[in-house]
Parts: sequence; structure tokens; C-alpha cells
Amino acid sequence: MSSMDVMQLIEKMGHEQLVFCQDSSLGLKAIIGIHNTKLGPALGGCRFWNYANTDEAVVDVLRLSRGMTYKAAISGLNLGGGKAVIMGDPAKLKSEAFFRRFGQFVESLSGRYITAEDVNMNVNDINQVASETKHVTGVTSRAGGSGDPSPFTALGVFQGIKASLKYRTGSDDLSRVKVAIQGCGSVGSKLAILLHKEGTSLILSDINSERAKTLCADLGAEYASPENIHKAPVDVYAPCALGGGINEKTISELETDIIAGAANNQLLDEKTDGARLKERKILYAPDYVINAGGLINVYHELLGYDKEKSTKDTMNIYNTLLEIYKLAEQNKQGTHEASNIIAERRIANA
Ligand code: NAD
Repeated sequence: MSSMDVMQLIEKMGHEQLVFCQDSSLGLKAIIGIHNTKLGPALGGCRFWNYANTDEAVVDVLRLSRGMTYKAAISGLNLGGGKAVIMGDPAKLKSEAFFRRFGQFVESLSGRYITAEDVNMNVNDINQVASETKHVTGVTSRAGGSGDPSPFTALGVFQGIKASLKYRTGSDDLSRVKVAIQGCGSVGSKLAILLHKEGTSLILSDINSERAKTLCADLGAEYASPENIHKAPVDVYAPCALGGGINEKTISELETDIIAGAANNQLLDEKTDGARLKERKILYAPDYVINAGGLINVYHELLGYDKEKSTKDTMNIYNTLLEIYKLAEQNKQGTHEASNIIAERRIANA
């Protein structure tokens, strides 16, 4: 990808800034995307992923950071949208020096970007980043932070599944439904445990089959292979792995009435895949709305952490989704489209 293409891309997607960071002595290659800071500083997690090439990382950080703008706006937070990606194999590269160096890059942006955990980043890693910058959230509670955001993300998704069932069936009784979860990582596994407590039947999958099978054994759940999980006949399909899993091929194979999960950027193509879901009458909980619990929690960390308030705001994802579903129905729109309109209105009025 030439630099000209990147400039065209960020202009098209409406980004303010894209920052490339590297330190060859540590093998550090990172990109920070700042999409929009109209509502506040750009907050978004840092993803550590072994991308095939730089283009893939650029596209990922652009999509993820834009998603954060919408997530903050729809959740009523005074935050903008940003995200960072670190390129490479986490197992080989992680070290204190590595994360401290990344922290220095974050610090160099003087608070325009605030980082946190995302895929392959844990609280210890974030604590090391925090040694070099105060523009960081999701640090351990011992260090004055709110800790791992994933329990809040899982709680928000749990609430979102209930809201979607309520809207679609008139009841949010989880004991009578079957849910398929793709990805049993930080969020997916916690979501499975919350649903299990309510008596929900579960089908679980992970590319790390050991991880999925162990959780299946613990919860008495069924196992499905990663190739087949989306084809399972269920009431709710919850994508909790990576993005792009909802696309032309998978939509034609889905056997669910509802998609409600944690993954960011679930729709490979927002417009066409959103329309396909509407056509198939599959209710889609817009990803950035249902997975906002983690962001809501780290936002409360910035305000001065109060777990009770954060929990209450996360539970409110239930009502936000119902509002979006009603608007989409009224306007005969896809749910993603309806949600974008509410978020864009808030940013425009800021
Ligand atoms: P994680 O890395 O802990 O878990 C992801 C899991 O998905 C891993 O176990 C991985 O092996 C599995 N996986 C990857 N590809 C798969 C596939 N094709 N099929 C089945 N399993 C697959 O990440 P996480 O923190 O649980 O986040 C999951 C998703 O939710 C990500 O898209 C993330 O961006 C999003 N999200 C997370 C948070 C959070 O608080 N952690 C907040 C908002 C959104």
C-alpha cells in the first residue's frame, strides 16, 4: 500500500490521525489510529496480533478506531474513538521493555489517545505500559485502576442477548434458549458462565479446541468445530472471536434468529451484510453497542472508579439496544444503520 493510498483511506474513513511507531531493537511495530476526538480524547484498546502484513494491520486499526468513535457516542460517553495495533507474535515479543516503549509512544500523543487492553493484551502488559504514560486505562485495581474490562464486556453482551430475545420473542427468559458462542477467550468464556448460571443451553467453539472443550466439560455444553459453529441451529449466535465473521457465505448458512456477541467489526461489509441480515430477518445487535461494557468500565476509571455505577451503566445496554431496534423497525432500516444514525447525531451536536 503506498502512502498515498493510506492518506486516501483515512480521508475516506474520516480519521484525524494515523501514527506509525517502531523500535527495531525490541521488534516493536505498532500503529495508533485516532478516528474522531469531537466528544473527547480517543480511547480504545491495544490489539497484539500477528498480522500477515502492514496493510492488514492498517485496515484493522482504521476499522477498530472508527468503531470506537461510534461505541463511545452511542453509549453516551464523552470520549472519541481510537485504537492501537501491535504487529507480531505476542509469545515472542512481549517483555517489560517492549510495553514500556509502547507506553512512551502513547505518552508522545499527550492524551489525544488513551490505551487499554484488547486481544492478546492482559492487565500485566497494561501495567507495564502505564509505567511510561498516564494515558492508559484498565490497569489493575491495586494500581488505582478498574482492572480487566472483559467481565463488563461479557455482562453487557449478556444484557444485550436478553434485550434481543425480549424484542424478538417477547420474553428474555434465558433458561429456554440455546446460544452458540464463537471464541472462548476473555469475553466468550465469561459470557458462557453467565448464561450457564441462567440455565441456557450452550454450544461452544474456539480455534484453540482444548480451551473450548475444557469449558464445555465445565459447563456441560456442546462443542462445535470453528468451521461449523455459525451453522448451529440456535436462538442466538454470539460471535466473540475476531471481526468479519458475518459475511455473504456465513449469512447464508446461519440458523439463528439473533446475532448478539462481543466481537468488534462483525460485519465484513457493514452495508451489504447489514442488508443481507435484514433480508433474512435475523436481528443483529450492532457490535459496538452490545460490546461497550468494557469501554463503559474504563470510562468510569477516568472519572474516578465506582464499580456500582459502572455496572449500572453497563446493564443499560439492554435499553440502548431496545431503542435502536425500535428505531430500525420504524424507519425500515437495518439495526446497524439505525444505530449509526443515533451515534452520528450525537457527534454532530457535540
Ligand atoms: P481473546 O483473545 O481473549 O479471545 C478470543 C478467542 O477467540 C480466543 O480464545 C481465540 O482462540 C478465539 N478465536 C479466534 N478466532 C476464532 C475463530 N475463527 N473461531 C473460534 N474461535 C476463534 O479476546 P477477547 O478479549 O475475549 O475479545 C473477543 C472479541 O471481543 C474481540 O473481537 C475483541 O475485539 C472484542 N471485544 C473485547 C472486549 C474486552 O473487554 N476484552 C471489549 C470489546 C470488544
